[in-house]
Amino acid sequence: MFSAASVQPRTDSTIVVLLGTGVPRPDPAAAGPATAVVIGSRVFLFDAGAGIERQLVTAHLPINGVTALFVTHLHSDHTLGLPDLIFTSWVMGRTTPLAAYGPHGLRAMTDHIIAAWAEDIAIRTDGLEHETRAGYRVAVHEITPGVVYDSGGVKITAIPVSHGDWKEAYGYRIDTPDRSIVVSGDTRPSEALVAASRGVDVLIHEVYPAAKLAPEPRPGGADWPQYMRASHTSDTELGRLAGTANPKLLILYHVVKRNGATDDEMLAEIRRSGFTGKAVIGKDLQRY
Ligand SMILES: [Zn+2]
Ligand SMILES: [Zn+2]
Repeated sequence: MFSAASVQPRTDSTIVVLLGTGVPRPDPAAAGPATAVVIGSRVFLFDAGAGIERQLVTAHLPINGVTALFVTHLHSDHTLGLPDLIFTSWVMGRTTPLAAYGPHGLRAMTDHIIAAWAEDIAIRTDGLEHETRAGYRVAVHEITPGVVYDSGGVKITAIPVSHGDWKEAYGYRIDTPDRSIVVSGDTRPSEALVAASRGVDVLIHEVYPAAKLAPEPRPGGADWPQYMRASHTSDTELGRLAGTANPKLLILYHVVKRNGATDDEMLAEIRRSGFTGKAVIGKDLQRY
């Protein structure tokens, strides 16, 4: 009844791989923020948190360079893996510049990283390792809101979001031949992100548990709740936003200061505040 072709798995279907769902606090179970969207042999990375190359190898994705990296913002937890991605992929065989898209400042960050490893680059290229001279380079694209990539049926749109005092922070919408995906990056509740997420297949969004927000016992810690409200999205707010956007699947990641909140408590709060669709708390190396 079915042709052979119809039962073959599609090799070009889009898969989301959660490479890192973590936050600044080191957690062996959650690497720094990084999400891969894989379409056939093409791998698009969103953020490069700590541990990125180890997560790529564990996920059986290429360690010698991805199709392109898209950085949401330049906070260290989202970019600590950039030197790893640049140099490890080079040493593992990358021979062409790494394509990297992100806010203004990404070029200076990349230039400084390459300058910082100047002695390594000299030894590896001039010595017996004979690494290529093009492979450690990065093709930086400092972006503005709108479509930033459109090639081979994959369109990636940068959505400006509000993240505390950052002048530029982006979420990204990825449209592939078979799926639509939005990655929030770090943001307080964003109407632009809601508008870009209406009816998408997958919305991957940061979150913190509202019930656990409290001043912190450290110098300046009294401002913590104010910082969080200006910079991040609570489960209460996310339920309301997702109720409007109505994604087919909501994946929570980058859970800031969980402070004992359980997955079930956050999911219950999201339901209570307006999103009754499918929602999960993302874990490292899960595929959707
Ligand atoms: Zn972050
Ligand atoms: Zn941030």
